[in-house]
Amino acid sequence: MLLTITTTHQPATELGYLLHKHPERCQSFVLSFGKAHIFYSEVSTQRCTAVLLLDVDAVKLARGRGALIRQYVSDRPYVASSFLSVAIAQVFSTALRGRCKDKPELAQTSIPLVARLPVLPCRGGEEFLRQLFEPLGYCVSAQAHLLDENFPEWGHSNYYTVELRHTLSISDLLSHLYVLIPVLDDEKHYWVGDEEVEKLLRHGEGWLAGHPAREQITKRYLKRQGYLTRTALAQLAEEDNLDPDWVEETHTQAEAAIEKPLSLNQQRINAILTVLKKYDAKRVIDLGCAQGTLLKILLKDSFFEQITGVDVSYRSLEIAKERLDRLRLPRDRWNRLQLIQSALTYQDKRFKGYDAATVIEVIEHLDLSRIQAFERVLFEVAQPKTIVLTTPNIEYNVRFTNLPAGRLRHKDHRFEWTREQFQTWGNSVAERFGYKVEFQSVGIEDSEVGSPTQMGVFSRNS
Ligand code: SAH
Repeated sequence: MLLTITTTHQPATELGYLLHKHPERCQSFVLSFGKAHIFYSEVSTQRCTAVLLLDVDAVKLARGRGALIRQYVSDRPYVASSFLSVAIAQVFSTALRGRCKDKPELAQTSIPLVARLPVLPCRGGEEFLRQLFEPLGYCVSAQAHLLDENFPEWGHSNYYTVELRHTLSISDLLSHLYVLIPVLDDEKHYWVGDEEVEKLLRHGEGWLAGHPAREQITKRYLKRQGYLTRTALAQLAEEDNLDPDWVEETHTQAEAAIEKPLSLNQQRINAILTVLKKYDAKRVIDLGCAQGTLLKILLKDSFFEQITGVDVSYRSLEIAKERLDRLRLPRDRWNRLQLIQSALTYQDKRFKGYDAATVIEVIEHLDLSRIQAFERVLFEVAQPKTIVLTTPNIEYNVRFTNLPAGRLRHKDHRFEWTREQFQTWGNSVAERFGYKVEFQSVGIEDSEVGSPTQMGVFSRNS
C-alpha cells in the first residue's frame, strides 16, 4: 500500500526537511504489523515526491494471541486503512506534530501539496469522500474501480484512487489523512477506547470542530461507540462555540464527558501513582478496574510486581484484556497481571495478600445499602496495607457549567458525597477496622466547593 506526497514548493527538496527523511536515502521501519519504507520517487528543485510504502504482514496479523485480522485473505495489506494512520504517526511523527528542527518556520508554512492514495476504501462513495475533504479546501479527484473487470455489470467497488491537492502545512495534511482515512474505510484494526477520543481531538485540533461532517467523522472514527462519540462531540462543541444550541444539546447528552476538560482522569492517576510509590506498594489490586485504564499504567511501570484487576462486568474485563494485549509486553511482564470477575460486596479470598488496593470512582456505583458489605470485604477480609479510594465531591458539581443543577455526574451513580460525608464515612471505617486515614483533593481546588475528586488514603495500623 502506498501513500505519495508531492510538493512543487521551491526548492521542492525541502520536503526532506519537513518529513525528516533525507531525499537520497531509502529508510525502513519495523512496525508491529509489518514494515514501512520511505523513499523518494522524484527529487528536483521544482518537484519532489516522497513515498511511504507500507508492507502489512497479513500472515502475522492473522496468527497468534489477539490476532488483528481474522483471515489470511484480506484487503488490509493493499488498501489505505488505520494501519496507514498508525504508520503516519510513527514514521512522520515530527512532521505530524508540526515540528521541523532545521526549518521551524517552514513546518508552519502553507505549501502546495498533493497526496495520492492508489487504493482508498471509501464506504459512502465519492460523495462522502468529497464531503470530508472539500470543506477543508482540498481539490479532490477520485477514480472509482470496478468490482471485477470481467463482470462490469457487478458495478463499482468501494475502492478509489484518490488525489488530494491543497496549499497547506505538512502537519495539517498528515493530520487530515490520519483521521479521515480510517473514517472513510469505516474500520479500525485495534480496539477503540478512551484514548481514541484524545487522539481524535489532538489530531482534529483546529479543523474538526468547525467541520460540517464532524458528527459523522466522530461517530465513524470512534467506531460508533455512543459514549465515546458523545464525549468527543461535547468537547468539540466547546472548541466551536459558534453554535450554542448544538453545544447545549451535546452537553446534556454527555454526562460522562463532564469531567474531561479538567483531564481529571489523568490527575487522579498521577495522584494514585504517587501514593502507591510512597507506600512502596508493589502488589496492587484494582477493585472495579473497568476497562483497565489504571491497570495499563501499572503494567507499563516495572515498579509494580503483581497487578490484579477485579470487576463485576465480564464485558469490561474482556475489553481490558484486549487493550492490555495491545501493549505487546514480553511474557514475564505480562505474567504480573491477573483479571478476576467478582463482586466487591461478596467476600473473595482472591482479594487477600496485596500491598495496596485501589478503588477508583467505584463506591458511588454501589447501592448505599451494600456499602457495609463492601466495607467488610475490603477492610476486614482483604485487608491490604494501603487503600486508595476516590469518589466525586458533589459540592464541586455546581462548577461544571455543563452539568444541570442537582444532577449527578454519571447515570449509574447511586449517590455522590460532600467532603464532610466522605470524611465522616472514611474516619468511621478507619476507626472500626484499624486503619489510619488521610484525605486529599484531586483536581483544581476551589476555595468554596473544594476539588472535583476526593481521595482517602487508608493505611493499616501495624
Ligand atoms: N476504576 C475505574 C472504573 C470506575 S467505573 C476507573 O477509574 O476508570 C465503576 C466500575 O465498577 C465499573 O466497571 C463497574 O462494572 C464496577 N462495579 C460496579 N459495582 C461493582 C461491584 N459490586 N463489584 C465489582 N465491580 C463493580
